[in-house]
Amino acid sequence: MQPPVESMPVESPFITGLRCLRCGAFYAPGAIDYVCDCRPNRGSDLGTLDVEYDYAALARLLTPAVWHADPDRSIGRFWRLLPIANRDALPPLPVGGTPLLAAPRLRAATGLKHLWIKDDGRNPSASFKDRASAIAVARAQRAGRAIVATASTGNAAAALAGQAAAAGQATVIFVPKSAPPAKIAQLLVYGSTVLAVDGSYDDAFDLCTEACLEFGWYNRSTGYNPYMTEGKKTVSYEIALQLAEQSGAILQEPIRLVAPDAVFVSVGDGCIIGGVHKGFRDLLTLGWIERMPRIYGVQSALSPALYNAWRAGVDVPAPVHATTRADSISVDAPRDAVKALAAVRATGGAYVLVEDAAILQAILPLARLGGVFAEPAGATAYAGLLQAQRDGLIKADETIVVINTGSGLKDVRAAMEVTGEVREIAPTLAAVRAALPQAAS
Ligand SMILES: *Cc1c(COP(=O)(O)O)cnc(C)c1O
Ligand SMILES: [Zn+2]
Repeated sequence: MQPPVESMPVESPFITGLRCLRCGAFYAPGAIDYVCDCRPNRGSDLGTLDVEYDYAALARLLTPAVWHADPDRSIGRFWRLLPIANRDALPPLPVGGTPLLAAPRLRAATGLKHLWIKDDGRNPSASFKDRASAIAVARAQRAGRAIVATASTGNAAAALAGQAAAAGQATVIFVPKSAPPAKIAQLLVYGSTVLAVDGSYDDAFDLCTEACLEFGWYNRSTGYNPYMTEGKKTVSYEIALQLAEQSGAILQEPIRLVAPDAVFVSVGDGCIIGGVHKGFRDLLTLGWIERMPRIYGVQSALSPALYNAWRAGVDVPAPVHATTRADSISVDAPRDAVKALAAVRATGGAYVLVEDAAILQAILPLARLGGVFAEPAGATAYAGLLQAQRDGLIKADETIVVINTGSGLKDVRAAMEVTGEVREIAPTLAAVRAALPQAAS
């Protein structure tokens, strides 16, 4: 029998509290839900909170071998470093455990001998966002909230809708009217209540925030809910584990995990890149990796708010008018700017800018040489790698991980723009011969 909701612990006993990254204020576990009182306003200048843990206690209890030996390949195996009471608090639709692909033909084409693709398109709702949405549903359920809401360019909502469906949790989703049909279809199929806002993603975001405050709904929105970073950091745990398993380091005493030299990830609000940073920082603090990777954030030239802020050396990005085809990273005012800028600045990485044409073109090598079909925002990371290589930011013998954040099936129209036409033929062998004079002779 389930204990009553109030008596169930909400989160890991190893969480010590939440720290505001803007003013330094510290909050006890559970004392605050979203952003610090110092800056609860709209836009990029938010009192972003970071969840802190008792790493000394965790290091006494846990070793990398425990994770390696866990038969559960989902993010559930990391539960002690997540804001959940135990792994059973997660929705019954496993997230994470995505493959780290060696992609030999991409290595040959780029000359990068230790290139890896972390394919997070292979999550249950086909994007990276499942990592965060699982945490949102777990926390909302433990808190007994009737409704979880989010604003989303599409994937965060699809992930929330899927996780919520599995757990029997009601959701209200605010998407910009322009979201690709496949993403809206996912929401409807999973049974969410969908409100298509006649405005931008940023308009949808602000409306969702207001509605949650007004109606007492649990707000999953990226960059506003501090716990989403915690779900997203699990990708770094997996990368370091998978590299250690590949190299055999996992079998040598003392067992160490392996950080790559560089990680490439596409950036919109900046929550994923902040999560990537947090994950490796956790591992470094635990003493399980020896150094941090350089983290590279890739933005479209048509949605460059964080790139601009990084170049200008400022902490609060000036809003842009984002128009990129890579809808998942089309953001006017990035909400997780503090964490997103710290990820790059603290690790000696960089922000890299790529044109939309290069983003769409990058879909092809990923698919044709790597077998990975990425949506535009996923291919953006690979386009950024190619740009960084041209800019001399990486070396051929470095270990480099490119994260594909979303499946290409999310936006087939964008992919079809760079593939060329399908040839129509009559249903006869003669027509095959005529169409393929070389192959069919
Ligand atoms: C959300 C998303 C991103 C960007 O993540 P942010 O946290 O907004 O920076 C990149 N790619 C895909 C496929 C996404 O869904
Ligand atoms: Zn503050």
